[in-house]
Amino acid sequence: MNAKRVNYSVIVPMYNEEEVIEHTYRRLKAVMDTTDKPYELVFVNDGSKDRTVQIMKKIGGEDPNVRLIDFSRNFGHQIAISAGMDYARGDAIIVIDADLQDPPEVILQMIEKWKEGYEVVYGRRLKRKGETVFKKLTALAFYRLLKSMTSVDIPLDTGDFRLIDRKVCDVLRGLKEKNRFVRGLISWIGFRQTSVEYVREERFAGETKYPLKKMISFALDGITSFSYKPLKIASYLGFALSCGGFVYLLIVIFQRLFTQSTVEGWTTIVALNLLFNGIILILLGVIGEYIGRIYDESKNRPLYIVREVTGHAGDGESRLD
Ligand code: UDP
Ligand code: MG
Repeated sequence: MNAKRVNYSVIVPMYNEEEVIEHTYRRLKAVMDTTDKPYELVFVNDGSKDRTVQIMKKIGGEDPNVRLIDFSRNFGHQIAISAGMDYARGDAIIVIDADLQDPPEVILQMIEKWKEGYEVVYGRRLKRKGETVFKKLTALAFYRLLKSMTSVDIPLDTGDFRLIDRKVCDVLRGLKEKNRFVRGLISWIGFRQTSVEYVREERFAGETKYPLKKMISFALDGITSFSYKPLKIASYLGFALSCGGFVYLLIVIFQRLFTQSTVEGWTTIVALNLLFNGIILILLGVIGEYIGRIYDESKNRPLYIVREVTGHAGDGESRLD
């Protein structure tokens, strides 16, 4: 428990960021040095397949403020952030992407707000530079959809770039859910929250580590973690359709009893079959998404597995002890 205390911990999740990471480190160091307070840079390597780890190990060997948590494989961005929080020892914890899309200088503004007494300071993106129209549109739609579906007030257009107080970090660490949507969890926790605005830059180098597949699963995690609405919609839809089906049943019985036209209707049958089966499959899929997540939770596996922890700051100790 005698781990060295620092004022600020900056968590940087990294996945195949060899092209940017050294730059990121330099800029972060330059910014954090100006605070004149003890700080640590906690780099979490999320199973990179390139030279990210080698580069970071070298930097860590020279800079006592650097710590490196090396995962045994790729566990995902949100889990890397969560691991960083487990190891961070600062009174204020800052999460920032490795690709310099979030300008490190904004951290200083966040720290000012924290000193004013806010416990969560999130970065709100005014603009997103250098991202594809597709990404911007899907992000815009996603945050609005999420907002309309949840009762938790998750701020629009914010990413994981934010500062949280030690208190918030400790609560967050106590939330053991596996399919983590960190920014939503932070909103759910509450405390005094505020924002600073910034312009999201272009990626410094390399390419996005969020292909469509990851974006979809990220969006599904966000929605299913904070909303039952898809399940509700499923049951409303089911109810409406069975009402419709019942009316049609009456029509069919009427036709059978009072008219001669009962042999026709092949088209109707096929159409109804396709429609209903399609809807049933979609609804089963929605339910499956939730059941899959219940299954994940029930397995109770650790969130991540660390290969090794390196860095001088505090001699590898953490708040985990
Ligand atoms: N990242 C990660 N694990 C992953 C995917 C991404 O740790 O499986 C990190 C990545 O290195 C970066 C941050 O998460 O620091 C955000 O990723 P990226 O910049 O590619 O996402 P985008 O800005 O395009 O949404
Ligand atoms: Mg990025």
